[in-house]
Amino acid sequence: MKQAGAVAEAMTEKCVFCKIMGGEKYQPVIYHDGLCTAFMDINQPNPYHVLIVPNSHAEDIYALSADEASAIFQLSARLSHAIRRVTNCPGLNVLSNNGRVAGQTVFHFHLHLMPRFQGDRLRLAAGLMGRKYPKTDAELERMTSNLKDQLAKSE
Ligand code: AMP
Ligand code: ZN
Repeated sequence: MKQAGAVAEAMTEKCVFCKIMGGEKYQPVIYHDGLCTAFMDINQPNPYHVLIVPNSHAEDIYALSADEASAIFQLSARLSHAIRRVTNCPGLNVLSNNGRVAGQTVFHFHLHLMPRFQGDRLRLAAGLMGRKYPKTDAELERMTSNLKDQLAKSE
């Protein structure tokens, strides 16, 4: 029974972002409302690296409600303005890794806001360029309609 208890405990162990929002772990919070929270990332390769998360635990983008997704993205735009006003950054990345294969390391959805500066040498977007797909314009049209069909199904 002791082992079953330990397993149950491990399964209910809160993720690190839930701990921050529950006040069990301190991380400076920038903004909080009924749906989402923004706080400073513990890693600051550039200053003002910020994360926005849903308050309720949701593993990745696929687990977000429409309301959470709207709130998080609206906040990302407002906060991007604030970061630019504070840092004078000439650019900013909005980034989210979903799934281990995409580089996700904390499995509570988050958007990264990363101000960018001339010559900062961060390579967040490495790999987004290239001409492997599609081979033809017709393929690009087919890919477009595949996504349009799927979007229409979810209306
Ligand atoms: P990702 O690799 O996209 O899942 O990003 C996870 C992010 O969470 C990284 O940028 C980490 O620096 C950040 N992180 C991990 N632990 C903490 C923490 N305790 N407080 C704030 N940020 C954290
Ligand atoms: Zn969580």
